[in-house]
Amino acid sequence: MSQQMVNFASDNASGAAPEVLEAVFAANDGRTMPYGNDHHTEATSQRLAEVFECALTAFPVATGTAANALALATVTPSHGSVICHRHAHIEVSECGAPEFFSGGGKLALLDGADGRIDAASLAASLATAGGSVHSVQPAAVSITQLTEAGTTYSVDQIRAICEVAHDHGLVVHMDGARFANAVVSLGVTPAEMTWKLGVDVLSFGATKNGALSAEAVIFFNRQHVDSFEFKRKRSGHLFSKMRLLSAQLNGYLENDNWLRYAAAANAAAARIVDGIANLPGVTIKHQVDGNQLFLLLSPGVLKALLDDGFQFYQRGADADGRVHARVVTPFTTTIEETDRFVAAVRRGGSNG
Ligand SMILES: *Cc1c(COP(=O)(O)O)cnc(C)c1O
Repeated sequence: MSQQMVNFASDNASGAAPEVLEAVFAANDGRTMPYGNDHHTEATSQRLAEVFECALTAFPVATGTAANALALATVTPSHGSVICHRHAHIEVSECGAPEFFSGGGKLALLDGADGRIDAASLAASLATAGGSVHSVQPAAVSITQLTEAGTTYSVDQIRAICEVAHDHGLVVHMDGARFANAVVSLGVTPAEMTWKLGVDVLSFGATKNGALSAEAVIFFNRQHVDSFEFKRKRSGHLFSKMRLLSAQLNGYLENDNWLRYAAAANAAAARIVDGIANLPGVTIKHQVDGNQLFLLLSPGVLKALLDDGFQFYQRGADADGRVHARVVTPFTTTIEETDRFVAAVRRGGSNG
């Protein structure tokens, strides 16, 4: 069984998309003004305004952590809090960056099934939060779309969260590291998933879905931009050769490439779901709305997958020795890879 390795550890196991690289090469010619005062960066803003069908203020940064931390620090004072899911990336995977950049702002955690918080538990938490000088003051809510459990928030769920947040004077942030996957999955427009529901600021992901290293912080509400530009500079995210970040976003967005990549990633995950749904030795833990699968694997299935060269993150075992696995299909996933994955699961399951 000498097979090629197939890396399903994360979307960013893939390199960049050809259209993105071509856009970087094209933008590399000649000289422009630095620090974002160039026509490529201007074009990024214009293109994003078209994509979102509204006036907006957009800032390219190089990582999703920077996008989240700088966005949240801008809308949260050091005595404030950001309400988010217990498993949110900002809580578990950013090394305290939102707290650091906000100068000590606190994350307030909510539980919720399938990676989602909901309007009711948000309202309940806000009923008792803040108010006194002895506690942090709730300043923002952050939701992740796709969620960290691979599910989407529905349009109605987002709207309800935004309503509660705004009733309490909170700003709504969306961590859109997998924004494109969610848009494709819901079949809505970018506007219908964000500002039309009340989302105020968005971390618009691109790296996982085809960029080299570029994301954009998008403010739908100019008043929230506030000190963002100073924070971006202080944190080292004001790139002098900004045009090469902006060019990535331009290549990503042109001709709806980003939606095509996300559709490919989602379709690969759906094909795996179809193939393994009724096989023994594997349980799909959450509905697969995008390109992330959270699975419980019997030892036999785990061994068959590893023997066949599949790489993915394992996250401990349950009492029966079944292993929690996260499998992510990048936009470059081929049908051969998905079908080989299904075949390995079938083999491992039938071996008991
Ligand atoms: C990957 C990811 C990010 C961004 O991570 P970086 O490694 O900093 O680019 C942010 N949020 C979520 C939900 C992610 O999955």
